[in-house]
Amino acid sequence: MIQNDKRICDGVGLWLENCTGRDWDGLPGLFLDRDGVILEETGYLGRVEDVRLVDGAVRLIGWANRQGIPVIVITNQSGIGRGYYDWQAFAAVQDELDRQLQRDGAQVDFVVACAYHEDGKPPFAIDNHPWRKPNPGMILAVRDQCRLDLSRSVLVGDKWSDLESAARVGMARGLLVKTGHGAQQANIPFSFEPGSMRIDIAESLEEALAIFKQETSSASG
Ligand SMILES: [Mg+2]
Repeated sequence: MIQNDKRICDGVGLWLENCTGRDWDGLPGLFLDRDGVILEETGYLGRVEDVRLVDGAVRLIGWANRQGIPVIVITNQSGIGRGYYDWQAFAAVQDELDRQLQRDGAQVDFVVACAYHEDGKPPFAIDNHPWRKPNPGMILAVRDQCRLDLSRSVLVGDKWSDLESAARVGMARGLLVKTGHGAQQANIPFSFEPGSMRIDIAESLEEALAIFKQETSSASG
């Protein structure tokens, strides 16, 4: 029974999964939104047959793997809260995502998800849950498990609300990528306080990777 799955860390609406179990103490993380960033946006993705990687996802994740940068998938899943699909379907989608990544030598290190939403059905009907982006609870939960250095971490999202969650914890870097909802989002200004986080818009995951490569080499060289 999926409800007894210990990855559902509160037994209801929060998913926290350490896929590779590596020691991440003090490392920066690469936080990636899932739908519209790693996977094509299909609207409430709950079916394995709809799992399609966005161009560049394998290269971006594979690059982070080779750099020793942990890759964290961070995803609001109100589709579960709304009753469109369940954790079992979510797990099946994640398995297919893993399969497609690993076929090309890339892998995700951590997955964190929140099913709560104000329009959810009981027991998922919680307004403004601290884990739901733009709140930073998912990021903080991963940090607490792995002792990542958030001040050197980066997040890639296709919505400003993704980047807001990163800004709230003082991440170094946020990129809005124009995949998924990103092309639309890029037309409207963001309305949160970026603090010390540097924010840019990337046309694609390839461009995001080029930016990270350049910044990594200038930081180390
Ligand atoms: Mg998204």
